[in-house]
Amino acid sequence: MCGFVGIISRHDCSADIVLALQALQHRGQDSAGVGTIHENDFPVARRLGLVSQGFGPDEIETLPGQIGIGHVRYPTIGSGSLRDAQPFWYRQPGVLMAHNGNFINIPKMNQTLEDQSVHLMSRCDVEPVLCIFALELMRRRNNSHTTEDAIAALEATFSQAVGAYSLVVALILDGEETLLAARDPLGIRPAVWGQSDNCTVVASESVALDALDVKLVGDVAPGEVMVFKTGHEPKRFQLKTYGSTPCIFEYIYFARPDSFHNGKSVYSVRLNLGRELARAWQAKNLDADVVIPIPDTSRPSAGALAEELRLPYREGFIKNRYTGRTFIMPNACERNNALKLKLNPIRSEFAGRRVLLVDDSIVRGTTLKRTIQIIRDQGAKEIHLAIHSPPVIFPCYYGIDMSTQEELAAAAFLPPCEDGTNGLAGSRPTLEMQAHVENGLARRLSLDSLTYLPLAGLVKAFPETCCSACFDGEYPLKLSDQEKTWIEKDRRTCVQRELVL
Ligand code: SF4
Repeated sequence: MCGFVGIISRHDCSADIVLALQALQHRGQDSAGVGTIHENDFPVARRLGLVSQGFGPDEIETLPGQIGIGHVRYPTIGSGSLRDAQPFWYRQPGVLMAHNGNFINIPKMNQTLEDQSVHLMSRCDVEPVLCIFALELMRRRNNSHTTEDAIAALEATFSQAVGAYSLVVALILDGEETLLAARDPLGIRPAVWGQSDNCTVVASESVALDALDVKLVGDVAPGEVMVFKTGHEPKRFQLKTYGSTPCIFEYIYFARPDSFHNGKSVYSVRLNLGRELARAWQAKNLDADVVIPIPDTSRPSAGALAEELRLPYREGFIKNRYTGRTFIMPNACERNNALKLKLNPIRSEFAGRRVLLVDDSIVRGTTLKRTIQIIRDQGAKEIHLAIHSPPVIFPCYYGIDMSTQEELAAAAFLPPCEDGTNGLAGSRPTLEMQAHVENGLARRLSLDSLTYLPLAGLVKAFPETCCSACFDGEYPLKLSDQEKTWIEKDRRTCVQRELVL
């Protein structure tokens, strides 16, 4: 879960990079970084925390140059420390790189590098990819690299670096400052690009372009490398692709609703999810007095659901925008108080009512449990919860922070199979399995009812081919058991805190 931006401009671009990163702040809050190219120099600044905390006017002044890349990070491989913050820089021949997603075969890449006596300085998975790319470039010639060299080097790199990723690179090619953008062969992680009179921008989400008043042109296609130089039309190179399976979770939770991915409005998908969720709720013959979203992601779906059910829609929580994240609080009591500070209920909307809450997903369920207690304390008569996605019961190895099975709240309530397992390794989840999860989790969360969107409803809301492996276990990019184990172990080792989604 990260965000990146790359800009090539007719003016110094670091201020614009910082602005774009602020628009992408929801994609990562652990660290932020900016790197530029200026007169054969590669200034890079990386800071822990929010973009606005680390990049004021003084910092921006130290980053001159008309080409640069920026990154906001929430780690899914490696830690949240400064050592793992992006962008990364490699001195020979001088390359900046940042990415979003996960590379899944890191031990193999690390071994390749070790065999060539290349030592890594971080646990971040983009560093070995950058090193391999730089080595592949240098293998082609010692200096004066061309666009053709870079494409061949990237092709060789992606044959060694497997994963779900989008990435941005800044370097000198054909004697000119050059920005490259690439996307994995299945297009799991997003990347868009756009242009204005003054600059070209690539980014994880179109909201970064909006912040700069840059017109969205389109997506980097799955398996494609795009090459941008000032004063030239972009060049497109199609490398290996296996079709398009974008991450559905971007639409469900992660992306901002005002973003467009793969030509599709995230907001409109969330409206569809709400309409389909209304049908799942209706099928249960339950009743409620009011629909209230748990802010912010589920607002569009809650509105659409209320419209379908002809129920009043109300805001039940006021969100304090100026509090920090709850998981960094040292103990449960402080976290509870911090949650109340962050999400204060409007008592009159809950007291004496049968409330239908709407949320986007349940991953770990820790914040949700506390939120439900807060609502009970307001005197709600009944609390029903509707989720605009199916139960998350399989880990994600592709760059969303839920990569171990034990952390998934819903997985604990799958019905046992005949062989004694919980069905995680079995076939596509059935409606019976979903009902089992709904009943068990409703009891655990002290809810009067819990309704998930069924898998069939998800398909109706988003009919295009996509990755929905965390819901159905059908991983479009196959991983070996060894690769899965390595990613799970990395998360267990690096995560030293309670994570809240
Ligand atoms: S497994 Fe889920 S979160 Fe991960 S890429 Fe697929 S849809 Fe997205």
